[in-house]
Amino acid sequence: MRSNFKDKKRIVFKVGTSTITHEETGGLDLVKLERFIRILTDLHNQGKDVIVVSSGAIGVGRKALGLSKKPDSISLKQACAAIGQSRLMTIYQKLFSEYNQFTAQILMTKFTIVNDTSRHNARNTFEELLNLGVIPIVNENDTVATDEIDFGDNDSLSAVVAAIAGADLLVLLSDIDGMYTDDPNRNPDAELISYVESISDEMIEMAKGPSTTLGTGGMSAKIYAAGIANDAGADMAIINGEDMDNIIRLIDGEELGTVFKAHRTRHFHLKEYLERKN
Ligand code: GLU
Repeated sequence: MRSNFKDKKRIVFKVGTSTITHEETGGLDLVKLERFIRILTDLHNQGKDVIVVSSGAIGVGRKALGLSKKPDSISLKQACAAIGQSRLMTIYQKLFSEYNQFTAQILMTKFTIVNDTSRHNARNTFEELLNLGVIPIVNENDTVATDEIDFGDNDSLSAVVAAIAGADLLVLLSDIDGMYTDDPNRNPDAELISYVESISDEMIEMAKGPSTTLGTGGMSAKIYAAGIANDAGADMAIINGEDMDNIIRLIDGEELGTVFKAHRTRHFHLKEYLERKN
């Protein structure tokens, strides 16, 4: 099934803070970001619609303020996000503009999806931007999102974006190679799962266990994201974002990462997925 990846028309890429920053300092990894942006622009030049879901607002804001530890109060977190999001967008716009590629910022909360009018408007905006040849860059609107209206993690947000924009592929760039049968850091016999035809109850249980080390959102967030993306009609892949060329390899149909197969549900209502989560 991977051989059809090169024919995908609309792809959402999710990058986490740990992928785009240096672990030791929290500063942006510009070499990696540059490579990422070059690859995405090239995919766009091949005629594909590209959407980015990028984390990093809080991390970049924290770094700008010189805070040594993670912000613990909601207001400080939100202040960091307000500072960091605009800095992050400045970098994205600067790097994309080197290839004359337009970008746009879209900030969402769960309310955007649960409210029928907002969801409808958001869908139209994505469509309009993609038709205009723009690459939308999405994040949660962390500055206003509180517990009741936040997605919690950008894995879920990226699946929601894939669903709302009618994408046919969602790629999560993670800090490990994909989904394993067990925590590979603790169990040397853990094996990479290459292909998931459908998400089993066993998998959901496994993800709830203590070995949820897969990226920032954890393995259960990724399985939850796959549930939404797959039902909406998009395949989902988890690949290692350490080497951005993995994107090219994946689209070329190479065997890497974990792929969850799409199986469009006839009556797909995005809103219900979010309501079910709470
Ligand atoms: N929206 C958060 C940020 O930009 C990150 C959430 C996540 O990585 O899952 O900092």
